Amino acid sequence: MTNNNGYFGQFGGSFVPEPIQKLLDELETTFNTYKDDPQFLEEYHGYLKDYAGRETPLYFAQSLTNYLGGAKIYLKREDLNHLGSHKLNNVLGQILLAKRMGKTRVIAETGAGQHGVATAAAAARFGMECDVYMGAVDVERQKLNVFRMELMGATVHPVDAGTGTLKNAVDAAFAAWMEDLNAFYVLGSAVGPHPYPTIVHEFQKVISEESRRQILEKEGRLPDAVIACVGGGSNAIGAFSEYINDHEVKLIGVEATGKGLDTHMHAATMEKGTVGIIDGMKTYSLFKDNGEVADVYSISAGLDYPGVGPEHAFFKDSGRAQYTGATDEDAINALITLSKTEGILPAIESSHALAEAIRLAPTMNPDQIIIVNVSGRGDKDVQSVMDYLEKNTDRNE
Ligand SMILES: *Cc1c(COP(=O)(O)O)cnc(C)c1O
Repeated sequence: MTNNNGYFGQFGGSFVPEPIQKLLDELETTFNTYKDDPQFLEEYHGYLKDYAGRETPLYFAQSLTNYLGGAKIYLKREDLNHLGSHKLNNVLGQILLAKRMGKTRVIAETGAGQHGVATAAAAARFGMECDVYMGAVDVERQKLNVFRMELMGATVHPVDAGTGTLKNAVDAAFAAWMEDLNAFYVLGSAVGPHPYPTIVHEFQKVISEESRRQILEKEGRLPDAVIACVGGGSNAIGAFSEYINDHEVKLIGVEATGKGLDTHMHAATMEKGTVGIIDGMKTYSLFKDNGEVADVYSISAGLDYPGVGPEHAFFKDSGRAQYTGATDEDAINALITLSKTEGILPAIESSHALAEAIRLAPTMNPDQIIIVNVSGRGDKDVQSVMDYLEKNTDRNE
């Protein structure tokens, strides 16, 4: 891993207006002051344990493994975190930095609503005012998450601009930050200007710190592959982090190819994107012919982001990780397969990673091991799954 002034190879950096740059510099100083500070870490890990419910299990999915035939599949159960996904790991870290900086108001953007919910919860816990920006279409798709945030005292601002999805919410949240430079911006994925991708990596690496120890305890060796879905890339970077120097471990990121790469209805940033500037960073992104950021699509609100974290862009080019895709259909089928074999209902986002594991496992030997990061639980997605199945009735049950 290279991280020189916020660059991962040619990717990353910070492309923001001057007033924001000043805040980012302050944030970087605070982060560097506390990231190895024993008292800070004790507080952070205390909340991870007693508030988020870590450590999360590394579960041997024996029934799924038997069903597929091939490599042993282990599931890293981030779905069992408080609030149902990996998002809280990062939010707790950032909120504790905000507290150190004396902040009393936080701003966040959210796509699926998961990051908004985690931010609202942490803000409630630390008595901070919380404003969450969310695309109007996503507000509609994720009503329960909106209500959850409101119950926890946050104000949710629907954003009508553009396609009314995550990218527009990011713009609106950024504008709100420009208007209140005293607020703390809680960023939800391993994206944005430096130092956010590095901060989010740091607070998500707990996933692989645990899984590495757990697999060594259970199997006495490292896995052959670690698979995670990639929206902005935070659960994937957390799932990969502690294996980066173990070159025998394949790292595989799975993007949403939506309705297929031959359509425009996908979010396959690294497969189809080009290098450019988006949301204050240099990375692979999907652009229209006129240079504007493209409208992207996935059945999962958490994966339809047109950019990707700069560290993933770097891993793609360096070859340290491979990036592939799963369609809506692949993901729904994987969700059903895991539900039926293991009684675990994964988030549609996580189901993209499972789809790749389901494809890969039968091509591997029974003594090989795959770890799949189950980034979240699927309770929030039940309605989307029902709608999908109703529209696609040619499925054989
Ligand atoms: C937000 C979310 C994602 C996508 O975000 P990353 O930053 O790519 O991890 C994936 N899974 C779940 C359950 C999410 O809530």
